[in-house]
Amino acid sequence: MSKVFRINTRTRMVTEEAFKDEYRLLGNRGLTAKFLLDEVDPLCDPLGPDNKLVLCTSVFAGTGLSTSYRVSFGAKSPLTGGIKESNVGGGLGYYLSQHGIRMMIFEDKPEDDRWHYVRVRADGNVELLPADDLRGLNNYALVEKLQEKHGKECGVATLGIAGERQYNVASIMVADHFTGKPTRAAGRGGLGAVMGSKQIKAIVVEKAAHRAGVVFADKERFETARKKFKNTVLSKDAVKGLSEGGTHGIMDMTAALNIMPVKNFSGEMVDQERFKAVSVDGFKAKIDENGGKTGQPCQPGCLVRCANIYNDSDGNFLTGGLEYETTVMFGPNIDVYDMDFLAKVDRMLDDLGIDTIEMGNAVAMCMEGGKIAWGDQEAVLALLREVEQGTEFGKTLAQGTEHVGKYLGVKRIPTVKKQSIPAYDPRTMKGQGVTYCLSAMGADHTTGNTVEAQGVDHADPAGKVELAAAIQTGTAVADNIGCIFCIPHGLEPDLLPELYAGLLGGDWNMDKVLGLGIQTLLWEKEFNRKAGFTAADNMLPEFLRVEKTVTGHVFNITPEELAKVEMF
Ligand code: SF4
Repeated sequence: MSKVFRINTRTRMVTEEAFKDEYRLLGNRGLTAKFLLDEVDPLCDPLGPDNKLVLCTSVFAGTGLSTSYRVSFGAKSPLTGGIKESNVGGGLGYYLSQHGIRMMIFEDKPEDDRWHYVRVRADGNVELLPADDLRGLNNYALVEKLQEKHGKECGVATLGIAGERQYNVASIMVADHFTGKPTRAAGRGGLGAVMGSKQIKAIVVEKAAHRAGVVFADKERFETARKKFKNTVLSKDAVKGLSEGGTHGIMDMTAALNIMPVKNFSGEMVDQERFKAVSVDGFKAKIDENGGKTGQPCQPGCLVRCANIYNDSDGNFLTGGLEYETTVMFGPNIDVYDMDFLAKVDRMLDDLGIDTIEMGNAVAMCMEGGKIAWGDQEAVLALLREVEQGTEFGKTLAQGTEHVGKYLGVKRIPTVKKQSIPAYDPRTMKGQGVTYCLSAMGADHTTGNTVEAQGVDHADPAGKVELAAAIQTGTAVADNIGCIFCIPHGLEPDLLPELYAGLLGGDWNMDKVLGLGIQTLLWEKEFNRKAGFTAADNMLPEFLRVEKTVTGHVFNITPEELAKVEMF
């Protein structure tokens, strides 16, 4: 069963409509891309009535395929002005699939100041409920309050005050399925601001009284492929690494190869002595010391289990899902080497509903611009409190890295298409630099992360355009199905076509599966082209092309070489 609910946030009408046949093969990112191209004017105001926020599930949600409960949010981004899809784990997709819901569409914009939240009732009906009493709450208190009303067995997506205030850095937070805490982020591109513009404070999906069944074209064929997929994923060393250390597992490698940004992409190496505190061992020791855990799933059935629980010194839950990106952007990139500080910042930003990558870079702008000193942890917390309090400078900071960098007169601003660069220096990881340039989403490592490419010299430009293009295609395939930390590890030639054929029927081969990924990328490019983007937007900032790292590298892949990959 594939249900679609359309919610007009001005008239407060909720209507159910048929799932279009032309969307039948699409899930998550592919579905958001096609929908946005079909229904949103690329030239619209991202925070105006013509933008739409869409929530999509995977084709495979409810089938038992690992990580297929991942969901995607999509809209025109207020940060980049282009298309944006941000996908997230947690329990939301699990409960949506129980109801057979494939899409929720939020459109138009209220003409008054009343806020609402969406409730998918246990009987499957969808309603908008007043949320005036929830306004001003941040994510932790908000989720607790919603769980008091609707029970703990529900999927929840929420906005903190950053989303309410329509800040460009605002994320949409989703509660982890097992801890029930808002630790999973649809973080990038300011989609929380779009949800805030619709005055939707939360989406609550109650446990279904009657579970919607999945109709398989050939269940036995699907199950055979699913079991092979499971064994393939579990056999991969990279998966074992993710289960043991989560995304932190690459810290030592990126530090040693000068890939990890230090002091606003200065090109310096980390200080080896100070680095020990945030290294893989330092991170694990801190988790163990306070009774935390690694190897946690964020959604039911995840084989990879890359999530973690980080406790405070009293052994109480402080935060979860603390990622490599957060640790680097609020760590070495601002000259901080202190796990407890990083966990505290992660908790604070999850609570406010703020993208840690964008805000980490924005704070680096404050250090580069001389507003606060490098490594001054108290000053960083004071800046974040300014964002929370909504002071004038807090509002400036909350509009993102490029905005605050320009405001402070900073010359070295690490952004592409106005979105800040994540925790891989493109000079020493050139494939990643290509992804930053070519992605329709701006500098977004999740659209084609070359870090796991084996046996390559990441700093050598040879072959990196082709490598990044191939990984972007594979990632777009995975983003139609589930989590990028799982699906690519089962990307064996026969398995994905078998899974599609077992579920949907018809003839499938790897070309057809890859075609879904390529089509997704083309739709995203088409949206951006109509929004006014050109090849000139596919550029890294000049300082990364002219300033050498201490290991002697600049980003030296030319626009002509980038243009070789024609579809981008
Ligand atoms: S691999 Fe990690 S992020 Fe992906 S679903 Fe599993 S726990 Fe969540």
